[in-house]
Amino acid sequence: MDHPPAPAPYRGRFAPSPTGPLHFGSLVAAVGSYLRARAAGGAWLLRMDDIDTPRNVPGAADGILRDLEGLGLEWDGPVVYQSDCLEAYTAALGRLLEQGAAYPCACSRAEVRAASEAAGLAPGVYPGTCRGGTGGRPGRSVRLRTDGARIAFTDGLLGRQKQDLEAAVGDFVIRRADGLFAYQLAVVVDDAAAGITEVVRGSDLLDSTPRQIHLYRRLGLPEPTWFHLPIAVTPAGEKLSKQTGAEAIGGEAAPEALWRALAFLGQAPPAALRGAPGPELLAWAEAHWDPGSIPARAALPDPSRADPSRAAAPEEVGRE
Ligand code: GLU
Repeated sequence: MDHPPAPAPYRGRFAPSPTGPLHFGSLVAAVGSYLRARAAGGAWLLRMDDIDTPRNVPGAADGILRDLEGLGLEWDGPVVYQSDCLEAYTAALGRLLEQGAAYPCACSRAEVRAASEAAGLAPGVYPGTCRGGTGGRPGRSVRLRTDGARIAFTDGLLGRQKQDLEAAVGDFVIRRADGLFAYQLAVVVDDAAAGITEVVRGSDLLDSTPRQIHLYRRLGLPEPTWFHLPIAVTPAGEKLSKQTGAEAIGGEAAPEALWRALAFLGQAPPAALRGAPGPELLAWAEAHWDPGSIPARAALPDPSRADPSRAAAPEEVGRE
């Protein structure tokens, strides 16, 4: 008798960019991805997305690792640094160019802006100017063809998603004009190399997912499933960032922030554990993990600006 193949063992990951200290938004992604992996009896890997070298902040990577360790968020295996993976990105880029899926583009940002405006497209959507060649101009970046691709997927939290990639984004950059590999290419090559089965991250990356799925298909790599967590926003709806006043949550503030992150994810940690050491709180969270209570919303108010238990109360946000 034929048996269906056993599902691949769960492999999840957290992939912070070392552009600053751990903050509330990245902690939510860390603890959400950690708990999904542990609940599945799977592995939780850690990768430092340090490919965008001009944005790296010295010492940030080590600081993030220290904060995670202090909270008891222990990862499996060695930390992967994107800066060590350039050969893999080069090989993937070479394959895409060779198969005609990608092409050099000579356009400057200003030219792309003008061309998308002239073509009546949404701002920044690339109309494919260099698809047929650069007309003898030197290539600056490399773009991936989108060729009418319509991408649909079911997010584990947010449900059915779809995007007409060519209309919404256009052929997109996979190697930048400054010579750096684009995030979209690096993340796909890395997640595939690590055998990641589910990507859990903030919903600020939801609209990157169709580009990444398109890359998986062009590279012939097995696609993971997707689970996008709500992101914390200011009352005006802006993503929390240094500019909008997101506080670093390392050191002594970390256990309190972990409690708030769990509340944000609808997990209702007991008030008595507020400020308890990270590992203790995490043990509670593992034992009581309920993914069905995560608010199925792309964004929620920043709990540090309101009573966090109210901001995350499932009856207030509801499921859509
Ligand atoms: N490094 C990215 C960030 O910090 C996240 C990458 C990902 O989870 O796909 O925003």
